[in-house]
Amino acid sequence: MADLIIRNGTIVDGTGAPGRTGDVEITDGVITAVGDVDGSATREIDAEGAVVTPGFIDIHTHFDGQVTWDPIVAPSSLHGVTTIAMGNCGVGFAPAAPDRHDWLISLLEGVEDIPGAALAEGLTWDWETFPQYLDALESKPHTVDVSAHIPHAALRTYVMGQRGADHLEAPSEGELAEMARQVKEAMAAGAMGFATSRTEIHRTSTGENIGTLSASETELLTIAHALREADAGVVQLISDLYQTPDDEVAQRELDLLEAFTRVSGRPLSFTMQQAYHSPERWRFQMDWVDRMVAQGLDVKAQVASRPIGVLLGLQATANPFAFCASYGELAFVDPADKLATLRDPERKRRILEEHATIAATLEPGIVQQIMCGFDVIFRLSDPVDYELDKDWSIAAEAAAAGVAAESMVYDLLLERDGTQLLYLPLFNFAHGNFDDIHDMITSPNTLFGLSDAGAHCGAICDASMTTSSLTVWSRDRTRGDRIPIEQIVHGHTLRNARHMGWLDRGVLAPGYLADLNVIDLASLACHPPTIIHDLPAGGRRLMQTAEGYRATVKAGAVTFEHGEHSGELPGALLRGTRPAPA
Ligand SMILES: [Zn+2]
Repeated sequence: MADLIIRNGTIVDGTGAPGRTGDVEITDGVITAVGDVDGSATREIDAEGAVVTPGFIDIHTHFDGQVTWDPIVAPSSLHGVTTIAMGNCGVGFAPAAPDRHDWLISLLEGVEDIPGAALAEGLTWDWETFPQYLDALESKPHTVDVSAHIPHAALRTYVMGQRGADHLEAPSEGELAEMARQVKEAMAAGAMGFATSRTEIHRTSTGENIGTLSASETELLTIAHALREADAGVVQLISDLYQTPDDEVAQRELDLLEAFTRVSGRPLSFTMQQAYHSPERWRFQMDWVDRMVAQGLDVKAQVASRPIGVLLGLQATANPFAFCASYGELAFVDPADKLATLRDPERKRRILEEHATIAATLEPGIVQQIMCGFDVIFRLSDPVDYELDKDWSIAAEAAAAGVAAESMVYDLLLERDGTQLLYLPLFNFAHGNFDDIHDMITSPNTLFGLSDAGAHCGAICDASMTTSSLTVWSRDRTRGDRIPIEQIVHGHTLRNARHMGWLDRGVLAPGYLADLNVIDLASLACHPPTIIHDLPAGGRRLMQTAEGYRATVKAGAVTFEHGEHSGELPGALLRGTRPAPA
């Protein structure tokens, strides 16, 4: 008798093949039959009217700290994700010298907006080297399978000490050899790959550039060579490519990525997003990716299936008034008193006046967008309609009401006792529609990524991108072409699995790992994110729940039913790649 049979669902199997009605039979954590299944099972799940998909694979998360204390791995696990990769963008907590814990915490607090106090209390630090970190993870069960890249920023400071934190410092020959040795050691222990950051945006909590920002060709190619020798792992990185205005500068960076790929012989992916002030820049990168692929290189751009959304609020990391002196001086005031003070009309007048003064001096960029982008700041409905339309922006609403947008945003942020969140698409919305995202995610040379789940705890909650991919692109879109559900599911499953070399998952077929979702497509929805304080030391994070996941199954065990955790923790550490079923 089988362990589990999922009956009468529409099977969207991850390959991109057309959905078909049928059953999925599971025994010992593996799919044993798909189609018309006769026999019986210990348990059956009725999937009538639902879509059955492989479990989603999120290759771009920052749960590196959270997984050491939290088995649930929400919000991702609430959105159909059954496998995650961490250590992205070159940041993480291993290797870590015992005297560098505070520095690594400040790095993750700065780069990824993960509360330092939560990390300080939550991290157990029962590791020093990267292999020891993997061993520590292996001892902790989760709802999802967990894997990690070795992060360049941690590696660099582990080998170079304080100098490694300074991007202007170059490693000595001995240090280069040691970095190469540790990369090979990490790959042998089961690291998923190597990740690095080359963006000005990534800074420690004290504002310093990340140590890997301008790592030289010599340093990077030494690591590339180590990956070739290891004959394992993927390469993941973020750079300022998406906003570099100068073609020559951008091309030099791309040449470096090409050299890295040729020397390492490993698959490479990098962040591709669209900034407001350089809306066509991503096409320059996409053209390069297409050329590299035509030459036989395994290069892909990681893209988001919706805008990267910043949530603005009084309790959030960002809001348009955060840089105003009359607002900033309330930073350490008790929340209730702060709210009362902000409600004072005289205080509001002063803050808006300061806002106008600062706004007049701002250059185009992220800060300007957050402070003044009222034409792309939105209220969030419940469920959230992620296909945004400028017609319902705050600026449009304010114009219709005959009030200043600044004033309207100020008042809105005071609502719900100061917990109201507003949504600002920070990337991928430069033309005020989703047409560019459509082009990004339908390219054969991109990967669905960039959720940054586990990071930006007070600013971004895009872990739900798996859910909104299905609702926006396959079901709801009205302002442009939709994308067949088979293609969207393929992007979140088999395509990512193949890139990472996890050939045992991402497909609903006999022999594959029994990771899957039973989804009520008609009721599938994201509720708006809220701020909760459940991290260690009462740390703050954004949480977002979903509707419509009838069940999520991990390695044959039902982990979630209707959004509730079953108590099962079948997820394990994923070391290296996995062969395809025989
Ligand atoms: Zn990242």
